[in-house]
Amino acid sequence: MNVQTPFQLVHDPARHQRSLLKSLLIIIFIFSAVIGTINVVTFDSWQIASFNYTSMISAILIGWLYRRTGHLLVASWLLCAAVIFNLFSFILLAKGGAYSLIWITVLPPIAFFLLGKRAGSWLTGATFVSLLTFLFWQMPNLPSTAFSTGAFLNITEVLLGHWLIFRHYEGSREAAFAEMERLSITDKLTGLHNRAKLDSILEMQMAYLQRLDQPFVVMLIDIDYFKRVNDNFGHLHGDQVLQKVASVLSNSVRKTDEVGRWGGEEFLLLCPQTDLASAIQLANSLREQIEREVSTANLTITVSIGVAEINKYMPVTEALGRADDALYKAKENGRNCVMHA
Ligand code: GH3
Ligand code: MG
Ligand code: MG
Repeated sequence: MNVQTPFQLVHDPARHQRSLLKSLLIIIFIFSAVIGTINVVTFDSWQIASFNYTSMISAILIGWLYRRTGHLLVASWLLCAAVIFNLFSFILLAKGGAYSLIWITVLPPIAFFLLGKRAGSWLTGATFVSLLTFLFWQMPNLPSTAFSTGAFLNITEVLLGHWLIFRHYEGSREAAFAEMERLSITDKLTGLHNRAKLDSILEMQMAYLQRLDQPFVVMLIDIDYFKRVNDNFGHLHGDQVLQKVASVLSNSVRKTDEVGRWGGEEFLLLCPQTDLASAIQLANSLREQIEREVSTANLTITVSIGVAEINKYMPVTEALGRADDALYKAKENGRNCVMHA
C-alpha cells in the first residue's frame, strides 16, 4: 500500500483537485447510466438517452486517460468540456425549459476549482456569454420558454453573481493554500527551509542520484559555542546571530544548492552535482564569510562544518550520519574548521 506521510500530503498542492476529478467522473458515470436507462425504459426516448450514454462513455475515457498519463490538467479540461457539452445538449433537448437552464450554475464550482482562477474565469465567462447570446437570439423560438426581458435579466444576474463569487472564492482559496504550504516548509526564525522540507528534498535528490549517478555532497554546519552566545548576550541576540548566519548561507550558495535549518544552531546544505574537492572549498569559503560577516567587535562567531560525499548505494540516514561524523571530527579538531567523511 502506498502510505503518504502528512508532509507528502501537504506537498501535493493539487491533491484536492485530483480527488474532485475522480469523484466527478464517478458521479457523471453513475448519473448518466441511471438517467439514460430511465429515459429508455420509462420515456422510450433513445435520443435523450444517447446523450446520457455519450457522457457515460466520456467519463470512462477521461478516467482511463487520467489513470494512464496522470495528467491532471488535460483530464480537467476534458471533464469541463464534457460538462459544458452536456449542459448545452440538455438545454437544447429541454427546449430551453427553466429547469434545464438552472443546471448551468454547476459549471463555476467545477471549472474554477479544477482549472484555477484564471482559466476558470475564462471558461465560465465564455460559456455564460455563449449561453446568454444563444438565449437572446433563440429563446423566442423555443416552444417551452415564455421569454421575457425580466427572465433574461434574472438569468444574466445569477450567472454574473456566480462568476464573481466563485472567482473571488477560488482566488482566496489558492492564496490561503499557498500560504499554508509556505508555512509548513519554512523555518519561522530564519526563513530557510525547515527540516521537513529538507527531508523531502533529500529524498528527491537521492532518487535523482540513483538515476543519474552524479557526485552529490551534504554539509552540516554548526555554530561553535553557541550556548555561550545565549548565556552571555541573551536568547534574543542568539536568535539574531542565527538569522545572520542563515542569510549568509542563503546568499552565498548556488541556485541549485538547497540550504535549511536542520535544528537548533545547525544548518544543512545539499549540493547536487558537486564533487568533494569543490565542496570543501565552498565550505571553507562559507566558514570564512560567516566569521567575517556575522562577528562583531565583542563577539566572534565561527562555525564547524562536516562534509560528506554521497553515492547512490547509500541510504539517506547513512549519508547524514557521515556528515555528522565529519562535523564531530571538526569539533574535536578545535572547531572553526571543515572536515570531510
Ligand atoms: P558546539 O561548539 O559544541 O556546537 O557548542 P554549542 O554551544 O554550539 O552546542 P550546544 O549543543 O551545547 O548548544 C546549542 C545551543 O543552541 C543550545 C540552545 O539553547 C541553542 N539554541 C537552539 N535553538 C535556538 C534558537 O532557536 N534560538 C537561540 N537563541 N538559541 C538556540
Ligand atoms: Mg554548536
Ligand atoms: Mg549543535
